[in-house]
Amino acid sequence: MNSEELQKLLEAGKIASKARDYAKKFLKAGMPVIDVANKVEEKIFGLGGKPSFPVCTSINENAAHCSYWDDKLKLKQGDLIKIDTGAHIDGWIADCAFSYSIGKNEENETLIKASENALNAAIKIAKPKTEVREIGRAVNAEMEKLGVNPIKNLTGHLVQRYKLHGPLSIPSFDNNDKTKLEEDMVIAIEPFATTGTGSVTEIKDFHIFRYIGKGTLRTSRDVLQHVVKEYYTLPFSRKWLLNKFGNLKTTIFLQQGVANKLLESYGPLKVISGHKAAQTEHTIIVKEKPIITTK
Ligand code: MN
Ligand code: MN
Repeated sequence: MNSEELQKLLEAGKIASKARDYAKKFLKAGMPVIDVANKVEEKIFGLGGKPSFPVCTSINENAAHCSYWDDKLKLKQGDLIKIDTGAHIDGWIADCAFSYSIGKNEENETLIKASENALNAAIKIAKPKTEVREIGRAVNAEMEKLGVNPIKNLTGHLVQRYKLHGPLSIPSFDNNDKTKLEEDMVIAIEPFATTGTGSVTEIKDFHIFRYIGKGTLRTSRDVLQHVVKEYYTLPFSRKWLLNKFGNLKTTIFLQQGVANKLLESYGPLKVISGHKAAQTEHTIIVKEKPIITTK
């Protein structure tokens, strides 16, 4: 990456972290969850960035990929909400997340602490030549100290231009992957802690989609053009299309896009045992002294 690209990465990181910190100020019981996401998304635009994916507002046993399009769901006392948000400048991506307890709740606080501690331990060793399994081991050790489990089938990832999930996974346990981190790799590390069994399953009620970068459609071409122009290969929300194109056009486009394999679809990822999960995430540039772009 050259210095101009580095500047864009760092700027995206600043915008994402400001939007994340903004969310911490207004979360409270009674608030419609869609308002949380809308406010954070507006903040990203207001700061001169674009969301690198829909702001995810996943609650309790829903670990990730929730982007609601109506206002039925409201925050309530005892909820554990994960706010996963990111910004990009010209395709240079930042990705970060925090978890928040609505009111005092011991289980929530233990899970939040475990995911934060795990992320901090991981970042300390996010240096050139570290094997990704060593990061997994460090994450798992922090979870064990607090008596909770990492979610093993959710991982961190390489971050590339216009590609949120690049071809390298950062595990949350020692999976024996000896792949080494390299200088200047951009990675997102995002340990999930749960009081339940450490795995999630996808609910087939799709909130988020992504254009895979090739192919066209016979119909819905205007919607496809909009998607390619506005999001290119980054994830987008059903909600965003509903706001612009309405229910019928959006539904037809998404059905045809998926059927013709132009679009990938993502549904909520739920802890199989039904227990709560917490997530903390930063984007990091791998260096002898790792740079946290979303600090
Ligand atoms: Mn994320
Ligand atoms: Mn991520």
